[in-house]
Amino acid sequence: MVATGAIKNLYGYLPGSSKGEYHYRLKTREWLAELQLDLAVVLPPVLNIIDAIVGMEGEGPSGGTPRQLGFLAASTETVALDMVTFRAMKLNLEQIPLLVAAKNRQFGTTDWSKIEIVGATMEELICPDFKPIRQLNNPLKILPLPQKILDFVQHHWKALPRIDSNKCVKCMRCRDGCPVKPPAIDPNCSVSANSTRCIKCYCCHEFCPVKAIDVNPTWLERFVLTGRIREFASHLAGIFKRH
Ligand code: SF4
Ligand code: SF4
Repeated sequence: MVATGAIKNLYGYLPGSSKGEYHYRLKTREWLAELQLDLAVVLPPVLNIIDAIVGMEGEGPSGGTPRQLGFLAASTETVALDMVTFRAMKLNLEQIPLLVAAKNRQFGTTDWSKIEIVGATMEELICPDFKPIRQLNNPLKILPLPQKILDFVQHHWKALPRIDSNKCVKCMRCRDGCPVKPPAIDPNCSVSANSTRCIKCYCCHEFCPVKAIDVNPTWLERFVLTGRIREFASHLAGIFKRH
C-alpha cells in the first residue's frame, strides 16, 4: 500500500485471521484500499494520532530502516492526517492507493486548500531525503495489453518472497500466517514461496521476527529498471517453457 498511516491502521479492526482472508480475496492494492476506506466510513475514529517520531523508510511492510522524522501529529480527520504525514515522506496523493480511493469517493479532505496545519509548517515536516518503498509506480499499468496478459505479466513483475536460510530460526510464523491454504511458503520444504499459489501480499515478510524473508526485485523489474536485455530474453524463454 506504499505507506502506512491513519487509514491503513484501521485494518486492525478486522479480527485475527480475517485480515489474511481479505488479503487473499482482495488481491489488488486498489481493492484493499476500498476495503480500508470502508472501515473508515463505517467506524470513523474520534481522534487519530500518528507517532512519526521514528518512522520506517525503505522496504516494508516490516523490513525497512528506522528513520528519525521527529514529529507527532493528530487530527479528527483521518484522510487529512494521512495527506500531511505522507507529504512529509515526500509522497504525493497519486502514489498512495488509499488517498486516490478517498479522492475518488470524495471521502475526507484531499484538497490541500482545506487542510490547516497547526504547530508546524509543511516545509518543516518534510524529510528531504526520505527513502520511499521501491516500485511506487507500476509502469506495466500503462501497457495497452488485454487484462489476462497484463495479470500474467504483473504476476511476474512483483517479487516472490525468499527465505534466507542462514537467518531463519524455523519459527513457522510465515507459514502459519500465510493467507493462502495450503500455505504458499513453508521453510521446511523450500526457501522460495510457491510461485503459483503466492499472492504476494508479503504478510510472511511482516511476520518474520528475524528479517529472514527477502523480497528482492524480480528479473522483470530488474530488466525494466536496468535494461538488461539478455537476462530478459533468457527468463522469457524459461517462462514460455513452463507455461
Ligand atoms: S507466501 Fe508470503 S507473500 Fe505469498 S501469499 Fe503467503 S504470506 Fe503472502
Ligand atoms: S518467519 Fe522467518 S524465521 Fe520464522 S520460519 Fe519463517 S522465515 Fe524462518
